[in-house]
Amino acid sequence: MEFVPFDPSASPDLAEISCVELTQCPYDSTPIEAEGLSGGSMLLTCPCCTAAWEWHGAWLHRVQEPNREAIRNAHAPQGTEIIP
Ligand SMILES: [Zn+2]
Repeated sequence: MEFVPFDPSASPDLAEISCVELTQCPYDSTPIEAEGLSGGSMLLTCPCCTAAWEWHGAWLHRVQEPNREAIRNAHAPQGTEIIP
């Protein structure tokens, strides 16, 4: 696993994450689930799109890409997503 220095200007995704402090998924606004890991890290997961991040102090590393289809479904108005 490789960590990169936290630099909001380097990634729009990370900049948005820092603004919401990872209380909500930056992709679909679902409340994030946090789990403590050994060594003081936090594992943050989105139950909607299954994206996951590992957060250790100022270091943030996405460990799981979001499911883009789940995000689209989360954003789709109810009752319209199944129309062909
Ligand atoms: Zn999500």
